[in-house]
Amino acid sequence: MKIAIIDADLLGRQRHRFPNLACEKISGYWKEQGATVELKLDYENFDDYDQVFVSKVFTDTPVPEWLCETEKVHIGGTGFYFDKAPNLPDEIEHHMPDYRLYDEWIKSTVERAKQAAQVAGTPFNEKSFMLQFKEYTDYCIGFLTRGCFRKCKFCVNQKFDHVFVHSPLEEFYYDECKKICLLDDNFFGCPRWEELLAELQATGKRFKFKQGLDERLLTEKKCELLFSSNYDGDFTFAFDNVSDYDLIHEKLKMIRRYSASRNIKFYVLTGFESIDHIDIENAFKRIALLLRYECLPYLMRYQNKNDTPWKRSKYAGLYIAMARWCNQPSILKKMSFRYFCEANQALRKDQTTYCSSMKAMTDFEKEHPEIAKKYFDLRYGENFEV
Ligand code: SF4
Repeated sequence: MKIAIIDADLLGRQRHRFPNLACEKISGYWKEQGATVELKLDYENFDDYDQVFVSKVFTDTPVPEWLCETEKVHIGGTGFYFDKAPNLPDEIEHHMPDYRLYDEWIKSTVERAKQAAQVAGTPFNEKSFMLQFKEYTDYCIGFLTRGCFRKCKFCVNQKFDHVFVHSPLEEFYYDECKKICLLDDNFFGCPRWEELLAELQATGKRFKFKQGLDERLLTEKKCELLFSSNYDGDFTFAFDNVSDYDLIHEKLKMIRRYSASRNIKFYVLTGFESIDHIDIENAFKRIALLLRYECLPYLMRYQNKNDTPWKRSKYAGLYIAMARWCNQPSILKKMSFRYFCEANQALRKDQTTYCSSMKAMTDFEKEHPEIAKKYFDLRYGENFEV
């Protein structure tokens, strides 16, 4: 039996660097059945295989127009079906992922880069080049829980109205992996979170929740256990809605009591409720609160399969400038938004015209001076309060 597995995001997104868990599970399952499994890197010669599995996570990843489900070809994932994506069959869903699926691709990518460096006569540092593959090589990956009760309108997670235990840790735990990466949707929404967290801690390995955690559910107990964990990298939460302002404010005080100096990152969703000046103001209001608690906002611009609303906004340039400022912590920690735009302008050769950031900022300021006055000069850590 010859099986081809296509990770469509890997083929269709240039800088995509995260393993597709469904692909790894399908591979693990079929290898156990004695099949020859190949990570296929194109959409050609399907006749050479008995079965072809194509999976994608992102709706905007391009795939060939002719691609469709047939007896031989199976397509799946939120990238194809959004919130209606069918589940994998149980025997695959609960199979140990094949963490070696991407090995050959990594090896050949490294070889190609080495050769290119040789031809160009430039030095090649394999260790730093390999860093881009760390999610493939260093982590065991899985869902301890699944589901979420919040049903945020912009989220693919609409199937369930509660959080439930999905996989026992041993189902995807592989001792040779250095760390653990959890893809849970809303871990703290699970009634058994404490027991599951204790299991993670007992492994002695570093772990992280890739999708972020729900800070609205934080309690003193959760903070105590979470922030004393052997956590991998930054803690990530989301501040999607300005109507949660007071609640998030309370939780930020709590977070900083347990974690005074760690990097805490918050996704800040924009361009969903609207794409006007109110959306811009709401984003700045959330960013300002996060900066006050020395947290790092990460600006997300909403898009779905059919639409990228912020691109239609008269403030599209401002969304871009805000994202460039927010999403680079080394810049954000040093510069206010205005300073960032002015620094960009200073680098411009032609000083008779404005660079895109400066133009977006000054145009907005002319229209809405009261919003600009309130937020454009705020700096990270200013008026830090616990
Ligand atoms: S809380 Fe998170 S996982 Fe749950 S519906 Fe909202 S965005 Fe999705």
